[in-house]
Amino acid sequence: MSKIIVAIDGYSSCGKSTLARALASRLSYAYIDSGAMYRCVTLYALQNGMIKDKVFLNEEIISILPDVHVSFKFNTHTKTSDTYLNDVNVERQIRTLEVAEIVSKVSIVKEVRTHLVALQRKMGKGKGIVMDGRDIGTNVFPHAELKIFMTADMDVRIDRRLDELNSKGMHVNREDVKRNLMERDHDDTHRKENPLMKAQDAVTLDNSDLSKDEQLEFVVKLISDLTLTKDTF
Ligand code: C5P
Repeated sequence: MSKIIVAIDGYSSCGKSTLARALASRLSYAYIDSGAMYRCVTLYALQNGMIKDKVFLNEEIISILPDVHVSFKFNTHTKTSDTYLNDVNVERQIRTLEVAEIVSKVSIVKEVRTHLVALQRKMGKGKGIVMDGRDIGTNVFPHAELKIFMTADMDVRIDRRLDELNSKGMHVNREDVKRNLMERDHDDTHRKENPLMKAQDAVTLDNSDLSKDEQLEFVVKLISDLTLTKDTF
């Protein structure tokens, strides 16, 4: 079967990246975490004093975009890929609540989106890629062969985010996580540029009551069904 593009979109902490990583590993595809790219721009802007006390110096943020180089490298210890910002491993720093609190304000900026979307399209040029985010099926790869739109109950999502943060040694308050998820859902679905929405041809996956294996098998089945209905991609 020819290689395809799998686009996974959905709300924050729905388990998109867990599923995307597992699927990429099953298919021997590349996995690209587009949210990590927005988080890297945010971290870089924070480190360089362009975001202070919730004031965003957007012109300055736009001007440093060419200096923000994001790459992903496989970590043999954790068996997942880590995010690098200008060759420094920032996997932990980009997951903090401090970055999560403001990333959706940076991702609103049109020029930031244009820059990152161009990089994402370049990464998907040869296909054989699983990318997760908010606008992958609607904007980055509108012709992706398979589009998944993920959703889950809010309590389940909060538990997942708390587990993720705890596993990285970051102990945060449940209410803070809930507030952050609700704010980001609101910002991501209401922004002008490429808001989060379900692509018309996306398959909805509500994984509130599904195990990781069940989710993976669900998507693998969708891919094998594709091969029955289409000869080539
Ligand atoms: O996926 P993750 O939670 O790491 O994404 C962080 C933020 O990056 C999202 O809340 C959203 O504001 C932004 N994002 C986006 N478009 C994408 C991926 C992420 O706007 N394709």
